[in-house]
Amino acid sequence: MTRIADALRSADQTRAIELGRGVLDRTGPMFVELFAGRSALVVADENTFGCAGEQVVASLRAAGVVLAAEPMVLPGAPTLYAGYPAVEAVRDRLASLPGAIACSIGAGTLNDITKLASGELERPYLHVCTAASVDGYSAFGASIAIDGFKATRSCPAPAGVIADLDVLQAAPQRLTATGYGDLSEKIPAGADWILADELGIEPIHPAAWSLVQESARAVLRRPAAIARAEPEAVAALTESLLLSGLGMQAAKSSRPASGAGHQFSHTWEMSGHGLTWEPPLSHGFKVGIGSIASCALWEASLALDLRALDVERVVARAPSPEQVETRVRAALPEAFADESVAASQSKQLRGAELRDRLRLVVERWPTVVERVRPQLVSAAEMMDMLRVAGAPHHPTLIGIDMDRFRATHQMARMIRRRYTILDVLEDCGMLDQVVDNLFAATGFWGRHRSGASSDSSEPPGTVTTPP
Ligand SMILES: [Zn+2]
Repeated sequence: MTRIADALRSADQTRAIELGRGVLDRTGPMFVELFAGRSALVVADENTFGCAGEQVVASLRAAGVVLAAEPMVLPGAPTLYAGYPAVEAVRDRLASLPGAIACSIGAGTLNDITKLASGELERPYLHVCTAASVDGYSAFGASIAIDGFKATRSCPAPAGVIADLDVLQAAPQRLTATGYGDLSEKIPAGADWILADELGIEPIHPAAWSLVQESARAVLRRPAAIARAEPEAVAALTESLLLSGLGMQAAKSSRPASGAGHQFSHTWEMSGHGLTWEPPLSHGFKVGIGSIASCALWEASLALDLRALDVERVVARAPSPEQVETRVRAALPEAFADESVAASQSKQLRGAELRDRLRLVVERWPTVVERVRPQLVSAAEMMDMLRVAGAPHHPTLIGIDMDRFRATHQMARMIRRRYTILDVLEDCGMLDQVVDNLFAATGFWGRHRSGASSDSSEPPGTVTTPP
């Protein structure tokens, strides 16, 4: 808890976190401490209310909190309620109860629904976690599906978070593996941040860096303990996920926790992939596949000798704004093309600016390699870590075939302004070539064309199966 207590000092939205065994009964006292005199609306679904609902209600009552209404209990399966209509329902219920503060009980989806509903009313809220599945519990922003497309909306993090390890440890293993998948991307995301730092594009925020990176590495080294839901492993994973959210608050950006690997996941989320599966394909499972993709790109890039780069040739071939727009519109669905055209054009340098960038890349590349090497794990290692943790470890295991997966390498770069390994390769005119090599017979993805595992120790039933 000391690390969390320290981290809370640099967070500007979350003021209190209780992490430990049996802390559900701290919900009431925390609510009073944060929102003295306000009434509460408990929001849960049938499953999460079953996990912790009675205890949360009892704790609120014991602390003298008035329940503004009966708990709002959504249907048991997220497929039945995830999406913007649920946000509107929670928001309208809250709005009908003047001054009431939401106390949500659930995993990522319920937290995001309540976060956005509360954010739209400019009311704070408190969240009780039921699984160690996402780092979004303590982060701002909510990922919500609107008309079948998932998008991240801006809204503040919860003012308070309760994470009871007895509850989290009893959660389905699939959800803990999902948290591991979300956390796995901190490794290549750290490499992306080092790159942006070295090129003067986005300096590293030292406090946010250590909040996210230090604990994540220790947790990620123990995938088997995660698969077995060992108490200390679930505790360490939960702490690390919470610290990651607080790291984003400290940096006022998702940069500390999200790099190119997350952009693979966002690309699939934006097209609604796996949204209607039961259970829906989780964020962390998609992110895990993005982590492997990003590690493979980094691995190939570390072997490049950029001293031979023909800077003038690359500058002469830089695409015009019209060409950038044509490419983005050809690659991405219309629903998010405008946003992606703007993101892609903001990153595309030309002429003297591109020349300066490329000279800097060539000059700094040996330092980038030196700094990034100890940060990374190999793609094969990342694949193995996810497999052992019980998370999907191949794109085909989340219903992404190899052609779609390959195309995602281009799309993932187009959808965000964030500078990552994808961008430095594109700036150097090498992205297509590096991706071709990865998918050639001798490349990483050429050698790993299927997700079939030869290892019979794989935990059964932990991977979401596409219908
Ligand atoms: Zn994430």
